Amino acid sequence: MLVVEDESALADVLEQYLKDEGFGVLRAADGPSAVELHAKHRPDLILLDLNLPGFPGTEVLRRVRAERDVPIIMLTGRTNEVDRVVGLELGADDYVGKPYSPREVVARAKTVLRRSERREAPHHGGERRVGAVSIDPVAHEVRVDGKPVTLTPTQFRILEVLAEHVGQTLTRDQLLQRVSIDGDVYDRTLDRHIANLRARIEKDPANPRYIVTVFGIGYKMVEPA
Ligand code: CA
Repeated sequence: MLVVEDESALADVLEQYLKDEGFGVLRAADGPSAVELHAKHRPDLILLDLNLPGFPGTEVLRRVRAERDVPIIMLTGRTNEVDRVVGLELGADDYVGKPYSPREVVARAKTVLRRSERREAPHHGGERRVGAVSIDPVAHEVRVDGKPVTLTPTQFRILEVLAEHVGQTLTRDQLLQRVSIDGDVYDRTLDRHIANLRARIEKDPANPRYIVTVFGIGYKMVEPA
């Protein structure tokens, strides 16, 4: 990770804490070298002081973000809220106000890294969200309001296909084609699977908000109002 901090005593302490936690640490003490080090080493996280020689942290943030979506935590010494707001608007993931405890910075760094690992999953097939329902095709996990729900593989496939086409009606045939592996889902069982799926993800399965029936045609998944 890249620590951008011009007060070397602060940077020393942070570096030590981070190294003790097993992080690799690069350091920059001004804006231009922060941008340069980022371009060269592509760190997985940047801890970014705002008040820097060369150009300010907000400018570092802007230039780095123009290149890539690396997680950034701002270390802001000013009491002025404006810096925090500007930083968050520019896309910082979090901020820690000075004087900060290195322990807190390390804790935030871990949280942001965990979050960004999840955020990167979409490159490999991607977590999908529809309202309070989130579907992780890699882990084969479905959560409703953050709570895991257990689905059969067929229910999972149906949900996945519907969620890929939010707002679009899929005919029964389209659904069967996309869901069925080796023809293991039949026309007559599709409604049963849908009913079971609703029972698991809908608050009131009789009045579904996510998976609605389009009479005579098929089903569609909608983003609840
Ligand atoms: Ca500073």
